[in-house]
Amino acid sequence: MTRKARSGRNPSPEQLREAKRLADLYGKHPENHPNAVAANHSQLAHINTYLGLPDHYVDIVFQCRNCGKEEIWLAESQKWYYETAKGHIDSKAVLCHDCRKKK
Ligand SMILES: [Zn+2]
Repeated sequence: MTRKARSGRNPSPEQLREAKRLADLYGKHPENHPNAVAANHSQLAHINTYLGLPDHYVDIVFQCRNCGKEEIWLAESQKWYYETAKGHIDSKAVLCHDCRKKK
């Protein structure tokens, strides 16, 4: 799987398993996660949080609250969402690609 092909959409069971394994393994040290993407704090200045800003984004497995399917919210997608689209840090992916498209 090349990095370019990564989308997080409709992941295979193997991809989900690997993403969860890595998330558990690097939960306390996201900087060592093989898919970690560095955060740019100057692009996160819109965020007010007592929890502190992330230094890195890593792939997150989440369950769609509409259809229940598991997908992967990729580190690079999180960076785009928080830093370019200026999403709030408390906002997380809740819908899979298919359900988001249907909305
Ligand atoms: Zn869904």
